[in-house]
Amino acid sequence: MSWEDNVRRVEPYVPGEQPKDGEKIIKLNTNEMPYPPSPKVFEALKAFDASSLRLYPAADVGPLRDALADHYGFAHDEVFVGVGSDDVLATAFLTFFNSEKPVIFPDITYSFYDVWAEVYRIPYETKPLDDDFHMVKSDYMCENGGIVIANPNAPTGVSEMDDIAFIEDIVAANPQSVVIADEAYVDFGGVTAVELTRKYDNLLVVRTFSKSRAFAGMRIGFAVGNRKLIKYLNDVKYSINSYTMNRPAIELGIASLSDNEYFKETVDKVMSTRQWAIDELRSRGFAVTDSKTNFVFASPSKISAEELFRKLKERGIYVRWWDKPRLRDWLRISVGTDEEMRTLIREIDSIMGS
Ligand SMILES: *Cc1c(COP(=O)(O)O)cnc(C)c1O
Repeated sequence: MSWEDNVRRVEPYVPGEQPKDGEKIIKLNTNEMPYPPSPKVFEALKAFDASSLRLYPAADVGPLRDALADHYGFAHDEVFVGVGSDDVLATAFLTFFNSEKPVIFPDITYSFYDVWAEVYRIPYETKPLDDDFHMVKSDYMCENGGIVIANPNAPTGVSEMDDIAFIEDIVAANPQSVVIADEAYVDFGGVTAVELTRKYDNLLVVRTFSKSRAFAGMRIGFAVGNRKLIKYLNDVKYSINSYTMNRPAIELGIASLSDNEYFKETVDKVMSTRQWAIDELRSRGFAVTDSKTNFVFASPSKISAEELFRKLKERGIYVRWWDKPRLRDWLRISVGTDEEMRTLIREIDSIMGS
């Protein structure tokens, strides 16, 4: 008998590679925003009073919750805030998925869901997406211990809410379980389910500042839902770590929310660069999904995705490739600046010898 027999063993989530500081690469592998946060964030950071750091922050993240509640038109106690949406999602898995029945989510989706299910020992089952990477609604009408839907989905970029009833039908058919809608990418042209939380007490909508607000390094995520859901989330949070959000994050998050104009401008820029990149790739024979996110999901025709991934890396361009069934013919490429995307296309042409 060894202490190692008692270890909670898990296979961790593997994030995209981060270059060392100063390394010159074009980084299109973790869906970060290519533009900086709002100038209002720079101002708030300069004005931040470091002497306040001796005091614990607001345990309920009060001021940022208020700002979010105002911004989205909800009440303070219908909003939960966490350290990135990964923290919000992990807390939600632990809080709401406490049944013997399996939690269900698609076979191709954010690869953290099965990791959380494993670490918390939550039974789960995956449902295959169809050949166009869409969810099959009827798959989610069975007995289950919970449902997780990334919409738009990662790494496919595909959105289900063009049919507005899609999520509502699933939420309405499953009053016995909590449905989590992970809307990490919804600001890039998706349709949010957030208004449905007023009508259904079993829907939790999870969002993040990491992508559309250029805040991946700050770690702010939040959820909107019925006050009972939010109370249960807070009960679990206060049972693990009361002071999750630090003072600078709270202040800078509020500053980011205050600048809607800059937010819209940078998100729009990413969406138009995305369309340019999709058109360029399609004209070179790539299959590309209709992305509603800040990345494109593309499958080359004249070269394997793996080879293209490796050759781009040799040339200093990082994209994401997974050696997994149904994914290994595809690359996920984050949308960078126009210049970065032009370089990407130029290097693809050079690799494919045209
Ligand atoms: C990026 C991402 C997240 C987590 O982002 P945070 O940086 O933790 O807020 C959650 N879900 C999906 C689908 C994502 O792509």
